[in-house]
Amino acid sequence: MRIIDHHIAGLANGGAAGGATRTGDVFDPNTGQVQATVRLGTQADLDTAIAAAQKAQPGWAATNPQRRARVMFEFKRLVELHMDELAELLSSEHGKVIADSKGDIQRGLEVIEFCCGIPHVLKGEYTQGAGPGIDVYSMRQPLGIGAGITPFNFPAMIPLWMSGVAIATGNAFILKPSERDPSVPVRLAELFREAGLPEGILQVVHGDKEMVDAILDHPAISAVSFVGSSDIAHYVYKRGVAAGKRVQAMGGAKNHGIVMPDADLDQVVADLSGAAFGSAGERCMALPVVVPVGEKTAIALREKLIPAIAALRVGVSTDKDAHYGPVVNAAHRARIEQWIQTGVDEGAELVVDGRGFALQGHEKGFFIGPSLFDHVTPSMESYKEEIFGPVLQIVRADDFDHAVRLPSEHQYGNGVAIFTRNGHAAREFAARVNVGMVGINVPIPVPVAYHTFGGWKRSAFGDTNQHGMEGVKFWTKVKTVTQRWPDGGVGDGANAFVIPTMG
Ligand code: NAD
Repeated sequence: MRIIDHHIAGLANGGAAGGATRTGDVFDPNTGQVQATVRLGTQADLDTAIAAAQKAQPGWAATNPQRRARVMFEFKRLVELHMDELAELLSSEHGKVIADSKGDIQRGLEVIEFCCGIPHVLKGEYTQGAGPGIDVYSMRQPLGIGAGITPFNFPAMIPLWMSGVAIATGNAFILKPSERDPSVPVRLAELFREAGLPEGILQVVHGDKEMVDAILDHPAISAVSFVGSSDIAHYVYKRGVAAGKRVQAMGGAKNHGIVMPDADLDQVVADLSGAAFGSAGERCMALPVVVPVGEKTAIALREKLIPAIAALRVGVSTDKDAHYGPVVNAAHRARIEQWIQTGVDEGAELVVDGRGFALQGHEKGFFIGPSLFDHVTPSMESYKEEIFGPVLQIVRADDFDHAVRLPSEHQYGNGVAIFTRNGHAAREFAARVNVGMVGINVPIPVPVAYHTFGGWKRSAFGDTNQHGMEGVKFWTKVKTVTQRWPDGGVGDGANAFVIPTMG
């Protein structure tokens, strides 16, 4: 059986520092078979990685930003060269179709492209003559050692959101990827080494709660970036902050798509098919709730959605014609099916039932068909909670105000979209809705890399977003220097006991 090891600088002993024996299964979701085991790390593994990071980081921080950027340029070239191999590896552990895996990698690379401009971004601020003979300047310095803890659903993009910016700004970075699909993060770390990144600057440690806790408690780690489900995000945030770290912790989501009566319904249905069912709904920016405004819109939308859902092709992740592949493991599929049952028990109308789906020749794979619910209401648990599967829920709204209230009052506030031809309604919606990322006729409004990604409410704990300037802010601390170069002599000291002002 293939063993997936840590990527820790100079680690011998088969990839484990402390003689660790615990391992986890990594499945091929297409077949349902275990294809590899991942070493689940210990405190000793983390200590080894920290020691290597401490050795390497000062030299990396002192490397001029242009040279750090060159590593980013070369890394981008190498990832593009290895795109097919990486996408196949990603699909084989996650289950998303190959084209979608390429998108996962590409969105991560866009953050690397942003990082190629790091010399410009780190220039700092300067004021000449802030007072008599006094200049003030500020610089952004790395924190030292940062860590990232990432979810299974974007095993390339999310590790690159964090590691790209953390490294480009001069930190050493320790990544703890999801133990469910850990191979691509390791390959990315290997490609960073090949691109010229010094040993010890990007290391990968595998593990579960034990490793997460070790990271949160380790005094040498200054900042932790987390992406995953909300309860764990909240736990990570509280424990990390209590240990004196800077923490950003992104959580779950339940994104709504508002459909106004004037929307182009054919376009909406095409957009919803991809946004609700693509990647089997395992996206934090999926659109699992659609909110038609007014009865006429609801009836027309439902009529168009049913045949569109029937036309969806579920297949193995290498099937070029498949719209989506299997979900990540059997436990997750069982959880999705349980939520569908809860919806039925709560009185929602199950219009299309995706349960019990088996793909011919792949009966043991973790496949599930698409489901559609109508007449879902805000009091239902299946509406309040994230299902994270190929399940679309219709929640009917009476009017525009009602439609704004639904996502605004939901516990999650990651993304939201409105479909309309009315610029005034769209503008009003974007201004009023209590959600962090808004799409206007854009179903999955994941901001580009030089903007910033982050939700509100229980979708994110901490106050700094991922990537873009917010990422730079998270991974650096500001130092402000006030300087004076007297032209000789010593001042009379008359005001030395009064707080200095520039006036
Ligand atoms: P998860 O919360 O199960 O796991 C995330 C990370 O936490 C993994 O590295 C895992 O090893 C670790 N972990 C698991 N259990 C833990 C515990 N008890 N204590 C400490 N650490 C633990 O999430 P997942 O299932 O891998 O990913 C899906 C979730 O991530 C969904 O809720 C999705 O919405 C969310 N997500 C959010 C964003 C965002 O930016 N808001 C992006 C992608 C995914």
